[in-house]
Amino acid sequence: MTVLSANPEIEDKVIELLNLVGLSPPEIFRDRYPHEFSGGQRQRIGIARAIALHPKFIVADEPVSALDVSVRAQILNLLKDIQNMLNLTYLFITHDLSVVRSISNRVAVMYLGEIVELATVSDLYDSPLHPYTKAIFAATPIPNPKSSRSRTRIVLKGDVPSPLDPPQGCRFHTRCWLTQSRCREERPEFRMIGEEHYVACHLVE
Ligand code: SF4
Repeated sequence: MTVLSANPEIEDKVIELLNLVGLSPPEIFRDRYPHEFSGGQRQRIGIARAIALHPKFIVADEPVSALDVSVRAQILNLLKDIQNMLNLTYLFITHDLSVVRSISNRVAVMYLGEIVELATVSDLYDSPLHPYTKAIFAATPIPNPKSSRSRTRIVLKGDVPSPLDPPQGCRFHTRCWLTQSRCREERPEFRMIGEEHYVACHLVE
């Protein structure tokens, strides 16, 4: 059974895309139903669909979060290869810091719908400045028990407030361990602190 289009141009395009995302030889994959693909293969199909119309910019929202670790690495490598091949820009949304580090050039950290820190990946990982960014890094498991024991623990109190009714002043002040009276009243400006490093916190100079 062949379910591809009778239009040879479309058929050629499908085969080209399947090859590009590593579903080759395409003859094996092109007639399958969706349920006959694994999670990683479906993600490859999603990537093929995303690049079919030659975009310059792709928003990828948690594209690898449902995959197991080995497949995750394969899909990340595929995304990087395709980025280099097609000269693409990604806006990559994820909660996984190891994924952020492996795929990003610049990272924006968001809290309650606002960017609180923006930096190159090396700057952010070497010297995070915003208290929320520091808390995220402090909560990330480290495989080495010695390093894990020696690092400073930061435990955020309370729940994330509703974005429909955010706190006055700094949105993070209800959970920040460095809060001062100014933080409750005055919203911190998002400003440049170093080359390509921006942060929104009253205490960061
Ligand atoms: Fe914490 Fe104040 Fe900085 Fe907000 S402005 S992150 S509350 S220290």
